[in-house]
Amino acid sequence: MALLGRLIVATMPLAPKFIIRMVASRYVAGSKLEDAISTMEKLSSEGACFTVDVLGEEITSLEEADFFLEEYSSLIDSIVKTKIDAHISVKPTAFGLLIDQESAYDKILHITRKASENNIFVRLDMEDSRVTDSTIDIMTRIRSHGLANIGVVLQGRLFRTISDIERICDRLGDDADFRICKGIYLEPEGIAHTGYNDIVNATNTAIEAMLDRGAYTAIASHDYPVIEKSLKLLEKYGLSPNDKKITSPGKGPGYEFQFLLGVRGDLRRKLSGDGHLTRIYVPYGKQWYEYGIRRLNENPEVATHVVKALLMPWTNRR
Ligand code: FAD
Repeated sequence: MALLGRLIVATMPLAPKFIIRMVASRYVAGSKLEDAISTMEKLSSEGACFTVDVLGEEITSLEEADFFLEEYSSLIDSIVKTKIDAHISVKPTAFGLLIDQESAYDKILHITRKASENNIFVRLDMEDSRVTDSTIDIMTRIRSHGLANIGVVLQGRLFRTISDIERICDRLGDDADFRICKGIYLEPEGIAHTGYNDIVNATNTAIEAMLDRGAYTAIASHDYPVIEKSLKLLEKYGLSPNDKKITSPGKGPGYEFQFLLGVRGDLRRKLSGDGHLTRIYVPYGKQWYEYGIRRLNENPEVATHVVKALLMPWTNRR
């Protein structure tokens, strides 16, 4: 399977762009803000809420960050205007984190303030291990301004994740707010688990550590062993869809499940039907092609998932 993924990635640049667009259209809302809004309006009837990502990352000049500042600002305005139940997801390197950390911080603070005024939560996506510390640092600094509407993502595959959970929870108490996922970046074995079972076990351990500390836990996985274990852990920690202790607007009772647009809709609808809060990650932007190719290069397994979804649609209904 890994070989198939690498083969697909190697031949991808030879495929006509319209074919790639056809495949991508399942996973990306479109190139414009209006595309993201209409995708969410359609999916709202499935009981889901959303987190929206403007595609793009690792800018090479600080001027490029202005585009993201304006686009996220318009996105917040559109969410407010349309009353869609949506948060935003931000990649710090799109604001220049790898060029000038202070400048990226200022811009993300600005966006978080505007989001806070409109009861919108900001999730800092976690990129590769070069920026783990600086991403966490931005979140804790913004929290120290009294803005509670920001949280980070942690990656189960990284060895450091349990101590990151402890550190963040020591600082923020049960106001800590995480998305936990396996982690898409294939990190070196000196700092990360690399085998499937180890990654699943480490992710499940991280989920338990978050719940144990009373942190808000957004479980972002489409993998049955992670979802099944999470459901057992929710029971163990007395969390259920019927709890009323929702602490901030648009959130669940201490936890939620998150899915990527276009992936395992059946499972998402089942969880939603059982009463769990489910959130769909909706990426849009003109950089959909570069984004797709980059993700595939980082982790060729994604290509295998995509081709499997095309050839065996019953394994992954939208
Ligand atoms: P897998 O075992 O990889 O997948 C289980 C099944 O889900 C696969 O068999 C396949 O059917 C389907 N599937 C999974 N991924 C895809 C896909 N891309 N296309 C088609 N089918 C797929 N990673 C980060 O490093 N940083 C982040 O900030 C981040 N944010 C995320 C936000 C959300 C809402 C989600 C759901 C994931 C996020 N990820 C992030 C990605 C995550 O780390 C994993 O790489 C990804 O979710 C695949 O892991 P899995 O747990 O779904 O299990």
